[in-house]
Amino acid sequence: MRTPSVAAVFAALVVALAGCADAPAPDTALPDRLVEAVTGDGAFRHLAELQRIADGNSGNRALGTPGYESSVEYVASTLRDAGYDVQTPTFAVRRFTVQDQRLTVDGGPVPVAALEYSPSTGPSGVTGPLAVVAGEGCQPAALAGIPARSVALVRRGACTFAEKAATAARAGAAALLVANNEDGPLTGVTLGEDTTGAVPVGGLSRADGQALAGRAGTPVTLMLVTAVEESESRNVLAQTRTGNPDEVVIAGGHLDSVPAGPGINDNGSGVAALLETAVRLGGSPGVANAVRFAFWGAEEVGLVGSTQYLRGLSDADRARIALYLNLDMVASPNAGYFVYDGDDSDRVGAGPGPAGSAAIERALAEALTAKGAPPAGTDFDGRSDYGPFIQAGIPSGGLFTGATEPKTPEEAQRWGGTAGAPHDPCYHQACDRLDTVNRTALDRNTDALASTVARFALLTTPLTGR
Ligand SMILES: [Zn+2]
Repeated sequence: MRTPSVAAVFAALVVALAGCADAPAPDTALPDRLVEAVTGDGAFRHLAELQRIADGNSGNRALGTPGYESSVEYVASTLRDAGYDVQTPTFAVRRFTVQDQRLTVDGGPVPVAALEYSPSTGPSGVTGPLAVVAGEGCQPAALAGIPARSVALVRRGACTFAEKAATAARAGAAALLVANNEDGPLTGVTLGEDTTGAVPVGGLSRADGQALAGRAGTPVTLMLVTAVEESESRNVLAQTRTGNPDEVVIAGGHLDSVPAGPGINDNGSGVAALLETAVRLGGSPGVANAVRFAFWGAEEVGLVGSTQYLRGLSDADRARIALYLNLDMVASPNAGYFVYDGDDSDRVGAGPGPAGSAAIERALAEALTAKGAPPAGTDFDGRSDYGPFIQAGIPSGGLFTGATEPKTPEEAQRWGGTAGAPHDPCYHQACDRLDTVNRTALDRNTDALASTVARFALLTTPLTGR
């Protein structure tokens, strides 16, 4: 190390006092330079490291496992070495689990599914006469006079499941059954994690509910063995030391895998593209806006890491986020090239995202087109870590190469690959490994990420009009 001269120290002090530290000036050539600097091979090396981590830790990198902790250490140390300010904040994870769920009516089984956050009946279940309630069971009057310790049967609709469960509890029921009001089983519905004063609640299909409606008074046993597990996990956040910290560009993806496999496409690929971009950008680039890279934990159990992160920010800190870019699966074996449909131009599924999401979609689409992969839209449904960001009103966008849905003939014509086969036949399976990923897709999506991060790091006015 060289000892600085008095003059140099004085000059540095003047600059620091002027409020601009020694930050490099914004580099207008940054988007082109960064796209040039990142490589698919560089991203693939990070992916290979994640595969090695899974191989050394029971084959996965899931929440609560040593494979996840090793993934955190790898990402954090890579970013520290690249000159970033890195943090790995912990967050709480509540997970509802079901060990067993059974309904017997007069000795015969009927399919039942515990509602999320249903209290447990315990392993012996609750037994009582079936009390058939007319309607949805939202009004106390509808349940007045049901036999004590009965199992009440109501229909879905008109009020929340938590309200039905509380009404049934106040009426003296031991448990509640809710029949669907449309075809199919009643699944994927919740009492909400803060529910209190509820009886155990099981969901039935509409057909089973209709069949039971004629059997009032029949003895039934409902057994729902449920639990809420409390644990902790960590996110990794790394921010550039340069750029305006009041106008932050965030790019992120989830770091956890499912327990079934190493999670190399889902979402090692997003992690690899982010790491490659972060390393080539460096911790002190010539940018106007600060860039923050985010690696989320516990995505696979319900977007927990990103949700808790946003919840933990002050309103002022949330307002400092200019935009969020999400990468979740960008190297699917039979890849499509999809950009989240932030402006809802496809008119499919969910509506448009927060204002500014359209400009992000355009930037990502231009970058992919420049790499020979003109993209299509994919519904902006919030089912990855950008969900909490769009709920907070933050303009968002992202890249995706497809999961279990089959590639259409039009897609195969546009991008190559196999029509009729899934984009990722190994989705959430043990075969989601390094040897199945699509390296061309990884390369192109890394370029598109690099281009878009650099572009918004220089200028966010396309989003805000500022
Ligand atoms: Zn994923």
